[in-house]
Amino acid sequence: TRRIVLAARPHGEPKDSDFRFEEAALPELGDGQALLQTLDLSLDPYMRGRMSSAKSYAAPVEIDQTMVGATVSRVLQSTDSSFAPGDIVLGYGGWQTHSVESTSYLRTLDTSSVPASTALGVLGMPGFTAYSGLLTIGAPKEGETVVVAAATGPVGSAVGQIAKIKGARAVGIAGGPDKVAYLTDELGFDAAIDHRADDFADQLKAAVPGGIDVYFENVGGKVFDAVLPRMNTYGRIPVCGLVANYNLTELPDGPDRSGALMGQILSRSLTVRGFIQTEFANDQFGSFLRDASGWVADGSLKYREHVAEGFDNTLDAFRGMLSGKNFGKTVVRIAE
Ligand code: NDP
Repeated sequence: TRRIVLAARPHGEPKDSDFRFEEAALPELGDGQALLQTLDLSLDPYMRGRMSSAKSYAAPVEIDQTMVGATVSRVLQSTDSSFAPGDIVLGYGGWQTHSVESTSYLRTLDTSSVPASTALGVLGMPGFTAYSGLLTIGAPKEGETVVVAAATGPVGSAVGQIAKIKGARAVGIAGGPDKVAYLTDELGFDAAIDHRADDFADQLKAAVPGGIDVYFENVGGKVFDAVLPRMNTYGRIPVCGLVANYNLTELPDGPDRSGALMGQILSRSLTVRGFIQTEFANDQFGSFLRDASGWVADGSLKYREHVAEGFDNTLDAFRGMLSGKNFGKTVVRIAE
């Protein structure tokens, strides 16, 4: 296999020298294992956390270990009769061209009506994150206003569209005019705003005349600062991610505002609840897959992929995703 291992813990934006490309021999297949060829590698923001040794909900990738990640792969060999050569499976092969995995981690994908790569995005972990976090914690009611940033990415785009399906108003925040136009013109968001605009906070205020009932937090930073004063009493904030912070090396300048934040939570009776999607998976993944597959089929849940061609482009694609150069779910196409 060709693989990318973590060579050093990145400080700020990950550099090429924080990683190493290697050739390695894969182990012989044991019982209940399969040899897989990676077709598509998923790149996701949580991987930045795995590069760090800071305490988190999951163990870090160790130095000299292969970077982790979900993969769509073709079975080349298998010692488990439920997986045959040629099957297309969802696994967790990591940043490498081939892998040997325990078949208990694999799920065979039906690619008759959707591309296999949707299992990494709209019909996979990011779609499920949107579904579970929005419906369980955000619980939008008909006519309420839902705001989400990173709104053209796989999580945010599903949050806004599921909000619409549930009869709420969806307001999306994204970087740049093309993404903003896509939100209203293609995905049916009621309004969309560019977070890089100088008058971003004023534009947001104008887009939510009735205030905000649910803010699905993907980014933090300046977006959160603009959102917080617009939250309605009894508003809900599912805290899903803080991508604006992931490459930060120190706290931003200025006074500590946590007291003011707590004051707003108190005086507006806000519910702020963080979550990791795995906590909902046992109870909700089945209903998610049924609902979301139906919505994709009837056109009410659209998706867009940002495909980086070739394994050598993995590092650029990863940095690009954290800084907004992706337009849709980021995957690296390693083989056809
Ligand atoms: P995306 O594909 O949306 O990529 C991240 C996007 O964040 C970028 O494309 C960029 O879009 C936006 N962004 C980056 N920096 C900033 C900034 N400073 N201000 C505003 N926007 C910024 O990622 P995903 O859809 O995969 O993930 C979205 C969020 O969900 C992440 O925070 C991720 O960590 C979180 N997540 C959490 C899970 C959980 O279980 N809690 C599970 C899965 C994801 P733009 O160009 O529009 O600015």
